[in-house]
Amino acid sequence: MQTRAKITVKGIVQGVGFRPFVHRLAKELGLKGWVKNTTAGVVIEVEGDKGKVRKFYDELTVRKPAPAQIKEKQIVYEVPRGSRFFAIKESTSQQKKEVFISPDIAICHDCLKELEDNFDRRHYYPFINCTNCGPRFTIIKDLPYDRPLTTMKKFSMCPICRKEYKDISRRRYHAEPNACPQCGPEIELIKSRKSGRESLGTLRYSEHFPKGLEALEATVHFLKKGKIVAIKGLGGFHLACDATNGVAVEKLRKRKGRPYKPFAIMVRDIETAKEHCLVSQEEEELLSGWQKPVVLLKKREDSKISDLVAPHNNCLGVMLPYTPLHYLLFSSVSPSLSALVMTSGNLSDQPIEIDNQEAINNLSHIPDYFLFHNRDIYNRCDDSIVEIFRGDPILIRRARSYVPSPIELDSKVEPILACGAELKNTFCLTKDKYAFISQYIGDLKDYKTLEYYEETVRRFEKLFGISPKIIAHDLHPDYLSTRYALNIKRRKPDIMRIPVQHHHAHIVSCLVENSVSGKVIGVAFDGIGYGSDGNIWGGEFLVADCGDFQRIGQLKYLPLPGGDRAVEQPWRMAVSLLVDAFGKRIPCIDFINRWGKKIPIILGMIEKKINSPLASSMGRFFDGVSSLLGICDVNTYEGQAAMELESMARDLSSSFRNLRVQNYRYEIQEERGRFIVEPGWIVRGIVEDLQRRVPVSVIASKFHNSIADIVKEVSLRIKERTGIGKVALSGGVFQNRLLLGLILRKLTERGFICYYQKKIPPNDGGISLGQAIIANEIAKRKIKR
Ligand SMILES: [Zn+2]
Ligand SMILES: [Zn+2]
Ligand SMILES: [Zn+2]
Repeated sequence: MQTRAKITVKGIVQGVGFRPFVHRLAKELGLKGWVKNTTAGVVIEVEGDKGKVRKFYDELTVRKPAPAQIKEKQIVYEVPRGSRFFAIKESTSQQKKEVFISPDIAICHDCLKELEDNFDRRHYYPFINCTNCGPRFTIIKDLPYDRPLTTMKKFSMCPICRKEYKDISRRRYHAEPNACPQCGPEIELIKSRKSGRESLGTLRYSEHFPKGLEALEATVHFLKKGKIVAIKGLGGFHLACDATNGVAVEKLRKRKGRPYKPFAIMVRDIETAKEHCLVSQEEEELLSGWQKPVVLLKKREDSKISDLVAPHNNCLGVMLPYTPLHYLLFSSVSPSLSALVMTSGNLSDQPIEIDNQEAINNLSHIPDYFLFHNRDIYNRCDDSIVEIFRGDPILIRRARSYVPSPIELDSKVEPILACGAELKNTFCLTKDKYAFISQYIGDLKDYKTLEYYEETVRRFEKLFGISPKIIAHDLHPDYLSTRYALNIKRRKPDIMRIPVQHHHAHIVSCLVENSVSGKVIGVAFDGIGYGSDGNIWGGEFLVADCGDFQRIGQLKYLPLPGGDRAVEQPWRMAVSLLVDAFGKRIPCIDFINRWGKKIPIILGMIEKKINSPLASSMGRFFDGVSSLLGICDVNTYEGQAAMELESMARDLSSSFRNLRVQNYRYEIQEERGRFIVEPGWIVRGIVEDLQRRVPVSVIASKFHNSIADIVKEVSLRIKERTGIGKVALSGGVFQNRLLLGLILRKLTERGFICYYQKKIPPNDGGISLGQAIIANEIAKRKIKR
């Protein structure tokens, strides 16, 4: 029987090779009709045998291109009209925007083959792409996704490219960034103004600005010589140098003013990744998939990557080449480069540079050369960072190739703008059943980052057609994101403004991601968040749902001598821990030898309550212990002391897999119905071990184990009181995989159902989603009243 059907497909279906796929599928099944992109999604009309039409509808989901995400699919049967062929129609724009934008896609196998083919007209062309791969979000200005609305507008296609673009049977049919060496973007190598300090000798390329292949060869040449090159990529600039060359890495660290924070590296191929790191099956899939994030891997002892790439850390952040330009850097004649440091090209606390001129203005003191290209980056996007935990990817930084894919919600919500936190900021906009979380913006401390933030909010509102009725923000009065929210409220008094507690937002972010409803025990461990009582929170046990929370347990409040300075200087926190555990009679350990002279000053501050706010922060507890053990006294980047403490403990657990590490004794008090975790017993245990010269890695392991045990114990007591058997874990401390693993094991042994975050970072990058959903719940209740 013949029939006709109108099919609407919504989701990430534009710019991912979806229409050509639809075309092929229709042809294969002998169906007639058409397909077109609209601002309301992809619309298809097919006509033919009823069974085949049904099959077509089903196969759309089964065989879709990998980067495509179908969020909604609808079919309506109609009367046959006697179509005689299948066509791809011009895009149409409608008032209501329902389209999702594709993230950027790493170069595909077909393009890679052409790139390496001597006889292909795009042989070694750094901007080769097709409908299955290439830039998307980073070049898009508005919808529908068509070339004039991208930064490719300025390049007009040559006749051959235009023919490919118009030919429905080709892989480049409507590939919006389609280009070739004749008509597309090109690269250029420029000497940095300030690199004159070093003699360049008789280098061939030093006098002029080579372009094209010559620029590429010169870049590789300089990198091999130990030079630093700022390379313009997909979502911004990278600073690159040979990762196996310690002198080059050290030079980069000095010039960037970044003494210890780990650098990400890019390696030639998966084999090279395995030479330097242990790579599991899941990690290999993640490294070589279409998103190609930075994957955190365990470094091999025999790796030739310089130790300066990730000092005091047994992990390396590794990614594979994801643009044709990256491939070309590694494919030059032997001996070719095998691993490059590829760290964000930015000044500290500022956004990654995307513009050639701005990069010259701001970064010139760092690289010796700039490798530019002239395809503009419209939406800035850092590399995403992912790690595999128990076989699943966990996002630590959600940006390139993940954004702007939406998170699907369980029910419709109001249009909301949630402003996020201060560190690792992202914001979140909601519409119907979707939450659009921005790319990683960074730390909102600098006016340039704030500018970037405000601009990105405007762009997201426009791209997704959202005008928020509610604005949610952190309770902290001084966060720039809070001030931004207050400003909006001033300008638009009709908007409903809802402040949200930081740790509640962490837990709800975890609940939303895992589709959990009802009350849970929320364990929120992080560095610093503003508490409802005005103190600093960060070691919290909540009973929470999406609308409300009760603080039912906490780490004991301790003074944070010097406030923000104690965050930068964990040794101050160590003094606070010692005072809490021993009073003024602090026993003699190495720590005292290092800091003895300064300790009386800190003691005075604590005693007289001078600039020593109270904090119940688990992150600071880790910091203080890290310093007590002599691992890290001063943070040169956020989380350093805690990360190095984890690294130390993991060294032990990986060398002695079956080692049963003991706990320290601990104590949980109950004050006015709230469980208070006392750090004193643990600190006394640690000091005793230090005096007995127990190895630091053993102490670090025992500490991790004790914290895990405390989580189990407090959860059991809360369950006893409330009957709640579900536990949600969130907050930056849960980036600590060792701790997360220990806690999950202990909780599940006791019958708890546990939830943690994978798609959304557990750190403050995940706060905005939680804020949005809480604001939606609170608004619902307000309206009901
Ligand atoms: Zn391709
Ligand atoms: Zn061309
Ligand atoms: Zn937090």
